[in-house]
Amino acid sequence: MNEMSKPAVPTAFTRPHAAADLVLPAPARGEPGTEEGQTLVHAASEEPFAFVPHTLPDQADALVTAARTAFESGPWRSLPVTERAATLRRISALVLDHADELARLQTLETSIVIAQSRGMHVARTAENFTFFADLLAGHAGESYEQSGRYLSVVTREPVGVALLIAPWNAPLVLASMKLAAAISLGNSVIVKPSEYAPLAVLRLVELVREAGVPDGVVQVACGTGPGIGNALVSHPGVDVVGFIGGTETGRRIMASAAGSLKKVGLELGGKSANIVLASADLERAVDGSLMGIFAGNGEQCLAGSRILVEDGIADEFIARFTARTKALKVGDPFDPTSEIGPMAFAAHFEKLLAFGETAHSDAAYTVLAGGERVEGMDRGYFFAPTVVEASDNSSDLCQTELFGPFATIQRVRDLDAALAIANDSEYGLASYIWSDDLPSVMRARRALRAGTVWVNTPMARDLRSPFGGYKQSGIGRDGLPGSIELFTEEKTTLIPQEPLDLPKLGAGEG
Ligand code: NAD
Repeated sequence: MNEMSKPAVPTAFTRPHAAADLVLPAPARGEPGTEEGQTLVHAASEEPFAFVPHTLPDQADALVTAARTAFESGPWRSLPVTERAATLRRISALVLDHADELARLQTLETSIVIAQSRGMHVARTAENFTFFADLLAGHAGESYEQSGRYLSVVTREPVGVALLIAPWNAPLVLASMKLAAAISLGNSVIVKPSEYAPLAVLRLVELVREAGVPDGVVQVACGTGPGIGNALVSHPGVDVVGFIGGTETGRRIMASAAGSLKKVGLELGGKSANIVLASADLERAVDGSLMGIFAGNGEQCLAGSRILVEDGIADEFIARFTARTKALKVGDPFDPTSEIGPMAFAAHFEKLLAFGETAHSDAAYTVLAGGERVEGMDRGYFFAPTVVEASDNSSDLCQTELFGPFATIQRVRDLDAALAIANDSEYGLASYIWSDDLPSVMRARRALRAGTVWVNTPMARDLRSPFGGYKQSGIGRDGLPGSIELFTEEKTTLIPQEPLDLPKLGAGEG
């Protein structure tokens, strides 16, 4: 990595014991990935660059008590909404003021290329806070006056203490969406970033505090899932869990949360179909399909990883898509011209290499590009952008979420065949369709069993619309109204409009 471009690691991690306000001190310096702490390794150089002490399970109580105290004492939730909204706008401005620093921290720990960290992720992180500031301005309750006797008023109140668990693949965007939603609605939160990528989120939390969110309202717990993560999920003092991560982990979280019957929102894995019909604008479909699978190093829940292309244009599409894949610029994530960086950490890289071996050795697949370490890049977790033609949708590579720059392509007879294959997956997070034929698009839109259907676009997000998954891709939705539903309780208050003539029980008048 270019030394000049290396961001400063927050002092919290070079002097862990001075950072008691950010993370509770670890008892001892641990080895990579132990319960005591995590040594972070930059994926391009394989060099360790930070040690993050972990919050241990027996410290969960202290965190929850602090969050609960901040909630009950009420300096945040009782703030007039205009002031809460103003604080959210200050956070957004601070995020933009520190855009370079945040982007570089995220790139350091995830290896998302700097152009995307800076241009897409930080911008969206800032927008998440302004979005919820705007929402507060227009947020209203409901009232009913059905009989004239009663006025029924429905208001929403914060749930209490919210645990927000984030994955490593897009830490800023994902943690900030939950954080902005939960605090805007008056909750106290504990953020649990991934042990592989906590730094940008920690810096974000510092900025949230700098913007004036009162003490105790936003806490951070760094550490492992089975350790502090599980201790917090099962803690009776946590009222709601907003989880983003893998499907298997989601199942564990739901089971663990059941013990104290708390609300759980789950945003989980995906294996999204990307349908390209003969009626598509081919050039745009190639551009968009490349973005769909290779943006964010392919380490994206919404990646369009299963490309289904109609027979009539299959040869042409596959030739163009494969040529462009081979021409992708894989390199140092801090190089502004890099299009794909290395895989985020060693274990994930090893997993992708194993999938690559399967592709090379199993007759069900034809490897058209990649499937192995990038030739000549012996240092760093550089996995070559991969295109594999698959003959059977039930095969492992077509059903498993690979979570890397790894596309499978299947040829399909027509739209009906494409829709059947698209829905033949345990996941249902997103889907893509490329076609200029409106009836085909409309039929696909109705038939696809997925939370989002992107039509002639690789990905776009309007925060007012819901985002989440069918089937094993999750429960609940981010955006509206899902974020409000997760982070508030509804309260109905019934008020008689005139004195009631009540039956006089016990007055001997019966
Ligand atoms: P993961 O499930 O391994 O971990 C996610 C988070 O959960 C981490 O912070 C981890 O420490 C924590 N965790 C793990 N076990 C836990 C437990 N038992 N109790 C409490 N916390 C626990 O996922 P990952 O590898 O970090 O992220 C990749 C996955 O996330 C992919 O499957 C991807 O599709 C999914 N994802 C989904 C969305 C979405 O919006 N649907 C967005 C991004 C990523």
